[in-house]
Amino acid sequence: MKAIQVKQVGGPEAMEVVELPVPQPKPNEAVVKLAASGVNFIDVYHREGRYKAPLPFVLGQEGAGVVTAVGADVKSVKVGDRVAWSGLLSSYAEYAAQPADRLVPVPQGISDQQAASAMLQGMTAHYLSHDTHPLKRGETALVHAAAGGVGLILVQMAHNLGARVIATVSTEEKAKLAREAGADDVILYTQADFEAEAKKLTGGKGVDVVYDSVGKTTFEKGLNILRPRGMMVLFGGSSGAVPPFDPIVLTQKGSLFLTRPSLGNYIATREELLARSGAVFGMMAAGKLKLRIGHTYPLAEAQQAHRDLEGRKTTGKLLLIP
Ligand code: NDP
Repeated sequence: MKAIQVKQVGGPEAMEVVELPVPQPKPNEAVVKLAASGVNFIDVYHREGRYKAPLPFVLGQEGAGVVTAVGADVKSVKVGDRVAWSGLLSSYAEYAAQPADRLVPVPQGISDQQAASAMLQGMTAHYLSHDTHPLKRGETALVHAAAGGVGLILVQMAHNLGARVIATVSTEEKAKLAREAGADDVILYTQADFEAEAKKLTGGKGVDVVYDSVGKTTFEKGLNILRPRGMMVLFGGSSGAVPPFDPIVLTQKGSLFLTRPSLGNYIATREELLARSGAVFGMMAAGKLKLRIGHTYPLAEAQQAHRDLEGRKTTGKLLLIP
């Protein structure tokens, strides 16, 4: 089978197309023939070595497909089931052997590509808006990189929860997508000072919560636009990591809250994984959540997918098709 392997961490060229044997399941595993692999920013961190994985490894954290073999102890899925997952390496491949209890069933009516798009970014947007800071009707949320994979989903969920959404994006094309997803106001943060704009838009009151996946270039100003006791949810670093930071700043800026959450802690048990993925699939089936697949690439073009993602050229979800 073909897979995208990293032998030495580095730039996009560190990803090689290799031929590997189709994996055999361990007793607790199921082998899945992938129909689509999700591309996520976390794949860049693994490829660069910012997040560590033992070398060599097959990249990718998210996928959907059909079970082709199961290990002796597996009870939760059977051959022929359509399944999807998030947070398991080895997903940029034609086949993957994964722990069966981390696979979720894909409901009828949800395509493989939609399922692969929903798992990582969909469940992330869900925990951010429903658990990390459960949004209430009438609250104001600022969502950075709102036309991105997580961004477009988070805007829809926040809007559906009754929050006012202020979105930031880099281009007019992305602004249009953010508005269509339900953003009430959009700031082009590459052209205008989002701190000044957000203060203006809230009449100086500040926002209740900032969802920040951009990190280095946005974090500090984000603290300045929170209302007293507001919540900074720093959940990524697409522009780079936030430098070390003295907690007294949170006091000075109004007894703020800061959290740096990760999806893994919000789907730690099988019950929570099934509940959260089920909630996202349910929103999709009910027509309340639309996933935008911005681009699909053949598996062998993983390098290009990463270049586009890192180059801020993409919107919505990117998929690799084996
Ligand atoms: P996106 O589709 O959001 O792509 C990243 C976007 O970030 C770009 O399109 C761009 O939007 C914006 N951006 C701003 N500055 C830069 C920069 N210097 N370089 C590149 N991009 C920049 O990616 P994902 O939806 O896959 O992930 C978004 C973020 O969320 C990532 O940081 C990821 O690690 C994080 N994440 C965290 C999770 C968690 O549980 N903590 C789970 C899932 C994702 P624009 O052009 O509009 O500025």
